[in-house]
Amino acid sequence: MQKTQSLSYAEIRSSILQNIPPEIGITRIEFEGPRLAIYTKKPEMLIEQSQIISDLAGIIKKRIVIRSDPSVRVPESEAERIIKEILPEDAGLVQSYFDPVLGEIILEVMKPGVAIGKGGSNLLEIVKRTKWSSNIVRSPPIPSMTIKQIQNYLYSKSKERERFLRDTGEAIFRPMYRNAGDVRITTLGGGRQVGRSAFLLRTRESAILLDCGINPGANNPVDAYPRLDTEEFDLSSLDAVVISHAHLDHCGFLPFLFKYGYDGPVYCSQPTASLMTLLQSDYIDVMNKEGRVPPYSSEDVKEIIVHTIPLGYGEVTDVSPDIRLTLHNAGHILGSSLVHLHIGKGLHNIVYTGDFKFGPTQLFHPASYQFPRVETLIIESTYGGPNDVSSSRLETESEFVKIINSLLNKGKALIPVPAVGRAQEIMMVINKYMQSGEMFEAPVYIEGMISEATAIHTAYPHYLSSEIRDQILYEGKNPFDSDYFTIVKQPDERDEIVEGGPCIIMATAGMMEGGPVIEYFKRMASDPENGLIFVSYQVAGTLGQRLQSGLKSVQIFGSNGKMEVINVEMGMYTVEGFSGHSDKRQLVNYVRKMHPAPKRIFFVHGEESKCLNMVQTFYKMKGLQAYAPEVFETFKLA
Ligand SMILES: [Zn+2]
Repeated sequence: MQKTQSLSYAEIRSSILQNIPPEIGITRIEFEGPRLAIYTKKPEMLIEQSQIISDLAGIIKKRIVIRSDPSVRVPESEAERIIKEILPEDAGLVQSYFDPVLGEIILEVMKPGVAIGKGGSNLLEIVKRTKWSSNIVRSPPIPSMTIKQIQNYLYSKSKERERFLRDTGEAIFRPMYRNAGDVRITTLGGGRQVGRSAFLLRTRESAILLDCGINPGANNPVDAYPRLDTEEFDLSSLDAVVISHAHLDHCGFLPFLFKYGYDGPVYCSQPTASLMTLLQSDYIDVMNKEGRVPPYSSEDVKEIIVHTIPLGYGEVTDVSPDIRLTLHNAGHILGSSLVHLHIGKGLHNIVYTGDFKFGPTQLFHPASYQFPRVETLIIESTYGGPNDVSSSRLETESEFVKIINSLLNKGKALIPVPAVGRAQEIMMVINKYMQSGEMFEAPVYIEGMISEATAIHTAYPHYLSSEIRDQILYEGKNPFDSDYFTIVKQPDERDEIVEGGPCIIMATAGMMEGGPVIEYFKRMASDPENGLIFVSYQVAGTLGQRLQSGLKSVQIFGSNGKMEVINVEMGMYTVEGFSGHSDKRQLVNYVRKMHPAPKRIFFVHGEESKCLNMVQTFYKMKGLQAYAPEVFETFKLA
């Protein structure tokens, strides 16, 4: 039988040994997830002669990383002492984390440029003297507990991580004895509905799951979770899971796979990895508080941390013998990604949008629309209805300012926000208009996980719009930390806030399915001077959606555990244009502008009527096939 694709391990090995001079002293060559790690006793020589590695990468078509042999690394405490000697005082070293698996030290500093030194001179000096390589990161203006916990956890699980990366690498580069072919996609969730997004992609050789979400509007497992019970799905032969972004309707069911023994990789952007841990842990807390049984435990959430391989936008990565993955900016929330899959050396190419915004926001650049090749596009349709055209961003902002100003006259504004995404966007808008004087100045109270999510935003400034990134990186300003904002830390502060003067309250959860927003709502609902402002999509069946459609009386459990009836007198407002989703016009523009033009489109992640409306819009377009797949449907793509 003939191999059809990549070089074997033996061929790679001999190629490396031929191309690297013997004095560099290679001790091991190993797969490290999708990369190839070359261990040497003299890592500094390969760093100084960087051409050797880039030439080699061209020959073997793999990403190569240089690792120092553990036997030559100086002990951690000694390395710390040497680093303090090398780094100039004004680099502002805050803390350092060791990663013994990679032989890497993460150095958190105030001034990365100073720490790196001219032409990387300090980094080279550190490698020479300690044999650890260093990874310089800017110390975030607001420290994040989640990121710290993830780093500590990875450190404590370094042996497991090492084993996982090696096994994953061997699986990705396993020999392939059949030609690539039989590309099929099965909708396990998110077909003609918003929620529980999950799409299974299979070829003759591989199987990949795109997203693994929950449906926040459903309670029974058959509707709430992806249909992993379909015969097409086999957990033991799954090569990879790719997560487009951290919202629970895209990643909320992922820990369940680990609970049932999944041991393979999860690919996503670095910010998605951090936000996902935060949101999955919170999901467990919320369920426990409500006396419901979560479908997995925090141990399963931690397993994801060990199994996650973070990727930057544009980084092309082999994820199985016949599939290459690249993530691109989706403009929806921090770290949100469009997923590009290149199958079988050009046999077929897929773009899966996850949730995306093809328009300007304060926080992010619009979604990418140019790809090397695309035949099949799987695109969200949240706002795919004929009337889902929102006003321009500028009109939206002035409408929002007008509503807030009218409420702040006598009352208070309550804004339910998902902790990640809309919360930070609305914070930026409020800060901008209060500073310019167009919005009445008033205290803005923020409660419920928003502050931790905001801290994670400041840790990844390169994923933010250039305007906000530059404020954080170069102007020493942090718009998330403006004087207008007050973080509510204790629940007993709520009464005082509600009884006090005019103010804005932003609280989770975004669809009012629980969380502190309910506590404020109970206290504020009966006063017609107050207003509830929806700024994000409300899934059918959630309390948010029912209030939005005019519900006048709500039964909620009171603090005494008894059912309370709340009469709703407060004003209801919906401002659509802040959505992190593309509206109808942006969806259509995206398909038209996409380069190259796709040949087949699947409209998903929208209510049935919206997906069907999008199909209607496109079915007459020449050379294009449009579908709205249902859950359980399988399509053959190539
Ligand atoms: Zn989303």
